[in-house]
Amino acid sequence: KDVTPERPSASPPPEQEVTISSRERVIFPGSGATKGNLADYYEAVAPIMLPFAANRPVSLVRCPQGRAKKCFFQKHDNGGFGDAVRRVAIREKDGGHEDYLFIEGARGILQCVQMGTIEFHGWGARTDNVEAPDRMVFDLDPDEGLDFGDVKGAARDIRYRLADLGLTSFAMLSGGKGVHVVVPLLPGHSWEAHKDFSRRFAEALSLAQPDRFTATMSKAKRKGKIFIDWLRNQRGSTAVLPYSARAREGAPVAVPLGWNELQEAETAQAFTIGDADRLLKRARGKTLAGWGFAEQRLPDL
Ligand code: ATP
Ligand code: MN
Ligand code: MN
Repeated sequence: KDVTPERPSASPPPEQEVTISSRERVIFPGSGATKGNLADYYEAVAPIMLPFAANRPVSLVRCPQGRAKKCFFQKHDNGGFGDAVRRVAIREKDGGHEDYLFIEGARGILQCVQMGTIEFHGWGARTDNVEAPDRMVFDLDPDEGLDFGDVKGAARDIRYRLADLGLTSFAMLSGGKGVHVVVPLLPGHSWEAHKDFSRRFAEALSLAQPDRFTATMSKAKRKGKIFIDWLRNQRGSTAVLPYSARAREGAPVAVPLGWNELQEAETAQAFTIGDADRLLKRARGKTLAGWGFAEQRLPDL
């Protein structure tokens, strides 16, 4: 169906450049945003995305025919990716190893986009030591019908609870419905300790305020509440990475926010792939200075 020609191959692109085919293909039918628009977005934000996205195992949400058609989650290489999409062998539960994907630079991001990737999700550990988590995420999932204000309130409460434990945390709009509270950690503890801490933290909150929070995934138990999804913190789980686009209507993106800014946000989809310039400017400003970085360790809980 797609008739957009490939770039003429008479002058091969310089080594650094990634050729994006079918730039005119509409990936987001609602807003009309194309694969070219998506590639331009990622090329622009690569410098501010890479500090969070580079050198960790990633899962991709690929939608080769656009977000309205079949999309799939991909964590292993099944061929076809460019040379800048790298592989890291990770031990599986059965004792064997599987290759996972990671990227090191802008070319890797763009080669994923060339393969139909819309979303980038990352492990909470880096490729140089996948057994040592360095990032905890509390993914706040509101029940249908809850107000975004409730989500913001929950994020703020979690921030203060974490601060009581000596932990600095950061807020990110997911680009979907919720907010992620991100806790950077110095590696040094096990996945077991990581998961355990996040589970107990979420359970303590839901015990203290059972009408606001739940720590169990069950939709039935979520009625009118916010699910504190701590399951992102298990070995092998991923969370959407800062500045990843989302395969949702309107091409929203996941965006780091200062805590004060969060209070003003009206939805988790406040930014889209059309906002690259704004995002770059923000990222250079004071509010986001140091976002996502803190030298801290898990306390005993
Ligand atoms: P929202 O704010 O709408 O909840 P989200 O990114 O937090 O957006 P969730 O459904 O809560 O979406 O999922 C949390 C995380 O779980 C995702 O960011 C993703 O990394 C991971 N995830 C979601 N679906 C899958 C899946 N099918 N396979 C693997 N991981 C998934
Ligand atoms: Mn979520
Ligand atoms: Mn979730």
